[in-house]
Amino acid sequence: MVRTRIAPSPTGFFHIGTARTALFNYLFAKKNNGSFIVRIEDTDKERSKPEFERDILEGLTWLGMQWDEGPDKKGEYGPYHQSERFALYRRYLEELNNKSLLYKCYCTKEELEEEREMQVLSRQPPRYSGKCSARTAAEQHALEKEGRTSTLRFRIERNRKLTIKDHIRGDLTFDTDILDDFIIAKDFDTPLYNFAVVIDDHLMKISHIIRGEEHISNVPKQALLAEALDFSTPEFAHLPLILNPDRTKLSKRQNKVSLLEYRTDGYLSEALINFMVLLGWNPGGDREIFTLAELEEIFDLTRVNKSGSIFDTHKLDWFNAHYIREMDISKLTSLCTPYFISAGYLTEKEASAKHEDAKIEKIVDLERERIHKISEIPLHTSYFFLTDVEYDDHLLLWKNTSPQATQEGLRIAEKVLLSLDESDFTASKIEQKLKQAIVEGKLKNGVVLWPLRVSLTGLAASPSPFDVAAILGKKKTLERVSHALKRISSLRP
Ligand code: GLU
Repeated sequence: MVRTRIAPSPTGFFHIGTARTALFNYLFAKKNNGSFIVRIEDTDKERSKPEFERDILEGLTWLGMQWDEGPDKKGEYGPYHQSERFALYRRYLEELNNKSLLYKCYCTKEELEEEREMQVLSRQPPRYSGKCSARTAAEQHALEKEGRTSTLRFRIERNRKLTIKDHIRGDLTFDTDILDDFIIAKDFDTPLYNFAVVIDDHLMKISHIIRGEEHISNVPKQALLAEALDFSTPEFAHLPLILNPDRTKLSKRQNKVSLLEYRTDGYLSEALINFMVLLGWNPGGDREIFTLAELEEIFDLTRVNKSGSIFDTHKLDWFNAHYIREMDISKLTSLCTPYFISAGYLTEKEASAKHEDAKIEKIVDLERERIHKISEIPLHTSYFFLTDVEYDDHLLLWKNTSPQATQEGLRIAEKVLLSLDESDFTASKIEQKLKQAIVEGKLKNGVVLWPLRVSLTGLAASPSPFDVAAILGKKKTLERVSHALKRISSLRP
């Protein structure tokens, strides 16, 4: 039975790297009819915050990765917050203690720092010397009387080679001599990450640990702890690093790293899923577009690369533009609406009115081809909402046409538009009639259509004037045309 987990620490906003790790865990579980578990690693009471946990769960939900067991779901292996599992950790700390695999270390921070500096100076690998590993009860008592506090260290068996299979990196071999007796708890009630994670992965029957490469150095520690407690070791897969374009580790300075910031910025969850899965996974072949449902069928750990993956925001924008084009129009419109509201183009009330909705849908449909992010929609469609459009009068002149010729062209457009009934004011009718007038007048398209388009949108690049006019409606269209005609007459011939 495949059981995977994502084990975030709620000490910051949901990081895009953690989201990628969650995705690989989720997909591997789905592909193998297994379970995907969310465990909140909140043993650090000071830095863990409920708002960060909410952000993480909201991010997973937004991406569509429903978990089978987790903090807000009942499951056989809960509770799913480490902060609620301290009694369990204590039991296993005591077991290690009874096996003499644990000892109290009384060294102060300063002493440890000094020891480290000495080792560095004498070119030895820095690691704990084991100074407290053989203290007698009397010594311990004396140190405690001095007021010293202690931590709990795990006693490592020296001179051993450990080989652990990793699904991505192959065999990982570690020499226990390079490890020090690391601290696994501050005291019996305060376990630290490397210890708590081993207990939980065992008790929650996690079969595969899929996580970032930065955790490889924890593998021997966790494997030795599991062995000491007679647990079987789960299987590992360490995902490649995510890199900035300059190949440094992905950082806030060069990229947004909070997942939900991407949502605010106008990215679609579909685009992020597609983008994130290719940060390390190679589908084979040329295909690049994958939905979550498709990935659940085809994802495979053997196709994950070892080398780091570049976080290319242009690629993300490309996926986003793709999904904006493909999305069901009413869904896309509802995602765009908050941006229209915050730009002041719509009130909440207007946004929920039926007739307005149909119009907004048309506007969105017309412009979706031109945007990469939903947040760009107000900027591209402002001419539908503003009372007047602003433009340089010269923009009305098509190529080298004179103001006079432009005026004539636009007059023809005005006449045609005036002749159409409200009920005929559709993009296809407008197009048909305008083109007919152009042919009859033996004119070039641009002489009529360019100034018309500019008068309606104020832009050099925009959708066709037929579509825009139809959405604007007869009254507004004619107002803009007559305004433009006035502006042309002020231009010198
Ligand atoms: N809480 C750890 C982290 O957020 C989990 C690491 C692991 O997957 O073992 O990095």
